[in-house]
Amino acid sequence: MDPSRYEQRVRALEAFGHRGSATPNEHKAAEYLAGQLRQSGIEPTIEEFRGARSMASRFLVHVLLAAIASLVLVWTPIVTIVLAAAALVSLVWEQTKCVVWLSRPVTLHRSHNVYGRIPPARPARRRILLSAHYDTQPSGFVWTINRPLMEWGFHSPLYLKSPMLPVAGLMAGQIALAVARLALGPIPLLTYLNDAVLVVYALLAMLFIQWAFGRPVPGAADNASGVAAVLELAEEWLRDPAADDVELAVLLTGCEECGLLGAAAWADRHRQEIASLPTLFLNIDAIGFGPPRFLGAEVPAAGPPLRFDPEMVALCAAAAAEAGLIDAGPHAIPGPTDGLAFLARGIRGVTIVGFRDGGVLPHYHTFQDTSQNMDFAAARAGVEFAQSICRKMAVIRDPK
Ligand SMILES: [Zn+2]
Repeated sequence: MDPSRYEQRVRALEAFGHRGSATPNEHKAAEYLAGQLRQSGIEPTIEEFRGARSMASRFLVHVLLAAIASLVLVWTPIVTIVLAAAALVSLVWEQTKCVVWLSRPVTLHRSHNVYGRIPPARPARRRILLSAHYDTQPSGFVWTINRPLMEWGFHSPLYLKSPMLPVAGLMAGQIALAVARLALGPIPLLTYLNDAVLVVYALLAMLFIQWAFGRPVPGAADNASGVAAVLELAEEWLRDPAADDVELAVLLTGCEECGLLGAAAWADRHRQEIASLPTLFLNIDAIGFGPPRFLGAEVPAAGPPLRFDPEMVALCAAAAAEAGLIDAGPHAIPGPTDGLAFLARGIRGVTIVGFRDGGVLPHYHTFQDTSQNMDFAAARAGVEFAQSICRKMAVIRDPK
């Protein structure tokens, strides 16, 4: 790789100030990235889709509906059950399937994926999709609260890692309260519990509103580090393809930070192509935070985790052993990457990330996520790790 060009690209992306999901800045960054692909000799297309400005607004829709469900409990428990169930089902379905249901009213903003392909010399037998998101997350008090929770989540069992699991649990509890009220009548205990639920929703709503209006962060490690890595890998492939019957596709996604909407939009739009040529994805996210690692499962914000294919995990483990990486994985972190949107659509692949021991991501989603604070040595190791995985993906045998 060319370390100076890599650093230049990270700094150029940081120089936009922010690349907040579905904002004009995100669009400008898309144009810049399309230019970089074109300069490398890859013809880019910019694909538009409907995105959101923040995850906060999408969560808020669900929390407000659940709060209304609590408010009407004293008059009509049946309506409470219907509204709370709708909020719960939509929250989990949106987060696990990477689709838009109840949050549609706040998911109408224009966002863009930058996409390009390097066709092989011979007829293609396989496609490798290199992906990284280029948008950045709005700041907010929520990220200060999240810091200790994230480390706690890193050490907790796989099925308890979802950061919005307590909220989903609260919605389920609300339904139980309404059922109890139908059965037992207006006993005071149920009223007190319902009031407590309302207080929690009010606090959550305040937190989400503050987050929704937060200025997006510069996003050097998350995820200019991954975007620059994808460009490096694509350029290396142009110079020296790992196989002459593998198509290399490059996808730089928008709106990852608001629910993996770019990755989902790409996979939905290219469904036919994916069905007609076996596709493996290699998603690179936030390799500038610490030593390279690979994931064994993707954890949705709310809902059951999805595991990566054992063959892909073994391939990463082999690459990590060759590179002498310590504790590289498989890991699971409390929150998803674009890999979840691909897994949810049946695409095989892996996600690589970077973090310090114990799941520590310094400056995650804060204004300190700058190139000055980024670990470029770790990112370089991440690029080399990704390169090794990509080359292995190109030559593994097709599944029988
Ligand atoms: Zn992020």
